[in-house]
Amino acid sequence: MFKIIALVLISIIFLFNLFISVKSYLARKREIPEEVKDVYDEERYLKWKAYSTDQLVVKMVISIVSFIISLALIIPDVFSIVAKNIENHYLSTLAVLGVYLGIDLIVGFIGDYVLKIKIEGKYGFNNSTMKTFVGDCIKKALLIIILFVGLTCLFIAIYEAMGDYVLILFSAILFVIVLFVAVISPLLSKVNNRFASLEEGSLRTRLMDLLTKNGYNVRDIKVMDASRRTNKSNAYFSGLGKTKTIVLYDNILKTLDEDEIVATFAHEMGHGLHKDSLKRSLFSLFSIIALVVLTWLLVRFPEIYKDFGFNGVNYGLGVILLFECLIPLVFTLLNIPMQALARHQEFKADETAVKEGYGDQLISGLKKLYKENLGDLNPDPLVVALSYSHPTLYQRIRNVKKIEG
Ligand SMILES: [Zn+2]
Repeated sequence: MFKIIALVLISIIFLFNLFISVKSYLARKREIPEEVKDVYDEERYLKWKAYSTDQLVVKMVISIVSFIISLALIIPDVFSIVAKNIENHYLSTLAVLGVYLGIDLIVGFIGDYVLKIKIEGKYGFNNSTMKTFVGDCIKKALLIIILFVGLTCLFIAIYEAMGDYVLILFSAILFVIVLFVAVISPLLSKVNNRFASLEEGSLRTRLMDLLTKNGYNVRDIKVMDASRRTNKSNAYFSGLGKTKTIVLYDNILKTLDEDEIVATFAHEMGHGLHKDSLKRSLFSLFSIIALVVLTWLLVRFPEIYKDFGFNGVNYGLGVILLFECLIPLVFTLLNIPMQALARHQEFKADETAVKEGYGDQLISGLKKLYKENLGDLNPDPLVVALSYSHPTLYQRIRNVKKIEG
């Protein structure tokens, strides 16, 4: 019974993602809205079509392969065969997790290789060498293994020692970890990139004036050497409290003119003024509690594991069910209001830029960034509502025009 439920959930999630991909694929036949007709020239537009088709096809193949692998592991009870004769809780958990993570990481890296090296390279985005790519993969694999194995063992230890109090203690531990990551994230990204303070000059003066005028204090304005990895341009806002930093990708300095950089910066400052990252942190606190409750439910019912060939609870299988069925289901649902909030925050941040008198520069900057990144000009509205963290370009232009009056 539980096995059938698990398979049904995995299938629903797979079909939902396939539906999104197919919708996105079909959306490329849609008419381009008037506001954004000037973003691409003919040649550039055809390049974009080819690029997005390649990406979609690869992503669909990856998700089909992952789906088949999941079925092939679950239906014949591969996990219980692997853990057979292992008495120790921790060791049987590690055996099951090892098989799952091993396969998952290999599929992930092959997918990443095709997406990042082959496809982005084909269209001239990728600047990362094979060495950087492999280094990134190893770092990512280590991080995932340490997180999964560490947190699972921690959960087992707490659960076996304290029973249901695991709910409170484990939530608290995860929350502290999330806060810790938020505080040290500027430090963490230093492992992967080099940061330099924005050099003195009229741009830095204008940006600092803008911040002071709005009573907003940041520790520094940094430029990150993102061009070492990608040609895509961006800017982001990171850290909490005294470690607040606004980071500009070096590409943005090359792509945009000074007014457009100030406009983009005003948008980022808007996020800061509205405390958008704090609001998102509250959402992640809620997600953590949901995650812990789901994990707890999974270990409360040993009957579940009998359906998968085990004699009792196997925490490794618990983690797999959590990540293959429950998390995708719950988080796909939670993601819908969360992304709606994120899109609302983008409109509000654009409003800050307009109020500073940079509406037109914001639009021209966004157009350049879209052109550089080969962004989607007219995605399917349903896909936007279900999964986009940013409004579409023409929606943002319409919003800016509306505020400007
Ligand atoms: Zn934004």
